[in-house]
Amino acid sequence: MLKLIIFGPPSAGKGTQAQRLSERYGIPQIATGDLLRDAVAKQTPLGAKIKSYLDSGRLGPDDLIVQLISDRVSKPDCAGGYILDGFPRTMGQARELDKMAEVDIVLNIVVDMERLVERAIGRRTCGQCAAVYHVSFNPPKAPGVCDKCGSGLIQRDDDKEDTVRNRLRIYMEQTAPLLEHFRMNDNLVDIDGSKGIDGVFDQMVEAIERVRA
Ligand code: AMP
Repeated sequence: MLKLIIFGPPSAGKGTQAQRLSERYGIPQIATGDLLRDAVAKQTPLGAKIKSYLDSGRLGPDDLIVQLISDRVSKPDCAGGYILDGFPRTMGQARELDKMAEVDIVLNIVVDMERLVERAIGRRTCGQCAAVYHVSFNPPKAPGVCDKCGSGLIQRDDDKEDTVRNRLRIYMEQTAPLLEHFRMNDNLVDIDGSKGIDGVFDQMVEAIERVRA
């Protein structure tokens, strides 16, 4: 059983690392942003409620998000653990999570704020399988085409510069204060996010192996 939180500002590389860790440890990546975008694309009732939040980069209401996660972690594929990517993002969500589960480790990706805008603007995601690329730092083999499934890559609407800056501001105001909460739970590990995709992954695996030992 392994329960992880990948924490950090928007475009710190949470999704990229969560995908890799999911493959390595055989546990699902639970990315709130992907679940929400999927709900919008499928025009579900949740999607209708959440669309305006996604478009503007604001955080969705805690009750909706907590319900979404609580349903997801109850599924059979989560029996051996899971990786939370993009949850919790508010104090309210963190308190609800504490009631729901005991998390083994919080991996906090530390990245210089200046670099985040650059990373977000260059990010491309697969419309089909949600794999993540960057036009310069992690390009696909053929431009605009997903290496994993061959579908077309898209730029998320909320990766445009204005929305990115808004998301960063919201992170600083509402999400970064959670670090203090995790520190009190004594399971927070800082990861140097400037070390490249492999370097960041290696630090994470090392930290996970330490808590499992
Ligand atoms: P992400 O893909 O993680 O960058 O999330 C994209 C967007 O989904 C965010 O800008 C929010 O609008 C929404 N979102 C994702 N996770 C959460 C969360 N834990 N709480 C509230 N809103 C969220």
